[in-house]
Amino acid sequence: MRLCVTGGAGYIGSVVAQALLHDGHDVTIVDNISTGHLSAVPEGCRFVRGDIRESGTLTDAFGTDTDAVLHFAALSIVGDSVSRPLDYFDNNIGGTVSLLQSMKTHGVKKIVFSSSAAVYGEPERLPIVETDVCRPSNPYGFSKFAVEQMLEASRVAWELQYVSLRYFNAGGSTTVHGEDHNPETHLIPIVLDVAAGRRKSFTIFGDDYDTRDGTCLRDYIHVYDLADAHIRALSAMEHAYSGVLNLGSENAFTVAEVVSAVERVTGMKVKYEIGPRRPGDPPALLASSKQAERVLGWKKRRSSLDEIIRSAHEWRLEHPDGYPS
Ligand code: UDP
Repeated sequence: MRLCVTGGAGYIGSVVAQALLHDGHDVTIVDNISTGHLSAVPEGCRFVRGDIRESGTLTDAFGTDTDAVLHFAALSIVGDSVSRPLDYFDNNIGGTVSLLQSMKTHGVKKIVFSSSAAVYGEPERLPIVETDVCRPSNPYGFSKFAVEQMLEASRVAWELQYVSLRYFNAGGSTTVHGEDHNPETHLIPIVLDVAAGRRKSFTIFGDDYDTRDGTCLRDYIHVYDLADAHIRALSAMEHAYSGVLNLGSENAFTVAEVVSAVERVTGMKVKYEIGPRRPGDPPALLASSKQAERVLGWKKRRSSLDEIIRSAHEWRLEHPDGYPS
């Protein structure tokens, strides 16, 4: 297929683009490199540097014939979204309006969307299923939920086909691609940096939650398994499927348990202190991924916490300063 990957220079987008190339697809990446990395763009992709809010960029990216879009381009940091919500609405909601308008103009009628468990906010029960109520507790989650509404409205109005994949906490690395944000805010890369002595210590955001040890509970899923689900989502759309699917490991760990797992896997000690809760953080997230298994035939292969941490640690050892560009 001829595929356009927005945000393909970012963490998950680059892993998916690499997997699509491996499967023999023709891949064009469009990315403004605001948070992504030029050197993460896989060799063999066509690369269009630009912003999806500009229709000229998308016209260039779509060319004459695009079969489907995989849409990752977005701002994605929960805490940051609480401080600058309008930037999140502009990038994530405005960017997707522009993308969908261009898709409609160019007759591109299939999209896989990078959504998030953040759409649920503070869930009423665990594990979370797709039909549970969505009440996002921060602007990032709201922006992802708003896009899901746009996708469904576009399905009704002009027969867009979509698969919205609600990722729980992505982690891990492939041999080529890993997690490199600046500044880094995600738990696993931060804890690995402390273990390796690149940071002195880190702060656990709150130990007074109603969880087994008081720290927040999250469901970590390997980026490799996420990539596999995207490829399966493209096939599902070939069979006329549209819908929303959770992608999680169905196993949740507290922040303190992640720290212990990093110590176990790396054999190094992690220093931390306890700080206040981070605004917008839900206490506990745990997926039911049964629907994704049924619809996509998806099976998690690499999503044990130890494998996620081990692969992230190896990538970091090989790329101590992250991507070169
Ligand atoms: N977290 C933490 N200290 C940090 C970074 C994260 O205690 O320096 C916690 C955070 O509050 C959350 C969990 O680790 O409960 C996962 O956070 P992350 O930012 O990795 O992903 P999110 O759940 O926000 O998507």
